[in-house]
Amino acid sequence: MGLVQFVAVSIAICSSAVAQPLNNSSGHLYVVREGETLRKIAQRFYEDELAFPTIIEGTNRLSKDGDGLLSIENEFDIRAGQKVWVPLQVTVRLETSGDTHTSVASATWTYQGKTNPSVWASLQPDYRLCASGTRQSPVIILPSTPPAAQVPAFDYHTSNLIISNNGRHIQISHDPGSSVKFDNVRYELAQLHFHVPSEHRIGQVQSSMEAHFVHLSQDRQLLVIAVLYDTGAEYIDTMAEIWNTLPPKGFVLHTNHQINVKRLFNFNAPMFHYVGSLTTPPCTEGVKWFVVSQKEQITRRQLSRLVELTGLNARPTQQVKNVFDVSD
Ligand SMILES: [Zn+2]
Repeated sequence: MGLVQFVAVSIAICSSAVAQPLNNSSGHLYVVREGETLRKIAQRFYEDELAFPTIIEGTNRLSKDGDGLLSIENEFDIRAGQKVWVPLQVTVRLETSGDTHTSVASATWTYQGKTNPSVWASLQPDYRLCASGTRQSPVIILPSTPPAAQVPAFDYHTSNLIISNNGRHIQISHDPGSSVKFDNVRYELAQLHFHVPSEHRIGQVQSSMEAHFVHLSQDRQLLVIAVLYDTGAEYIDTMAEIWNTLPPKGFVLHTNHQINVKRLFNFNAPMFHYVGSLTTPPCTEGVKWFVVSQKEQITRRQLSRLVELTGLNARPTQQVKNVFDVSD
């Protein structure tokens, strides 16, 4: 994780926010005390000393507007009595990041190297289904597969955009209140995340990217909508809004943007349905999958940005063991 990357993210947040006058709800004006460092101030306000670049960026943005703040060159360019601006919006380190988590008990799993998908089941007893499961995902969807006769009814609403990068996936936490209804059961949209390249394939063809919209029912049943994206000239505005704010590995970014994830795909398109599993450990089965038949597009640039941040993160397709049971 480089500081340069971190600062770049802070700039990305603020370039889209209108410069606010001091003493309003967008942050705090703070006078540096004797012996205080920017890291200590970041710890005080954000409970994370590594969030200090947010203060540098916030101060420098306002100093340009002539609000009496001195610009800050680097974290050591600070002295007692100096005023700094502490924005409310901040990029903070994820506590659950695989990088910072050193506990031996939580075996890490990866997409490349010694802990790649072919050995997930051996990493931890809880992961055994990754090898022994009979309804594992992702799968190849044969062109002859009929679309689902019954598809979820969508009730999606806008959400604050909160994005994290846990080193494996870019994930968007969705605000409560958006859901789908299927078979008279309500499944709440919890989060969405992205895989490169696609995990599911429609007719042997692997797409450039796949988005998973993960829903949970009240009794913890999973329903996932999968959308495939090919690289192309067209792109979706909402995708661009998300891509403008992708955080570096190990960070979560709280933005003041609102997004409507319904714009990321055609929810009226036919869908393929089967019951499979999580495509990540512990590979839990009983997941209701709906793969949208209409593919969408992302730009080559958006795709390479994602690869830069998370690397390739698609589980290989699993042997079809009688998984296409459309009546299920
Ligand atoms: Zn996924």
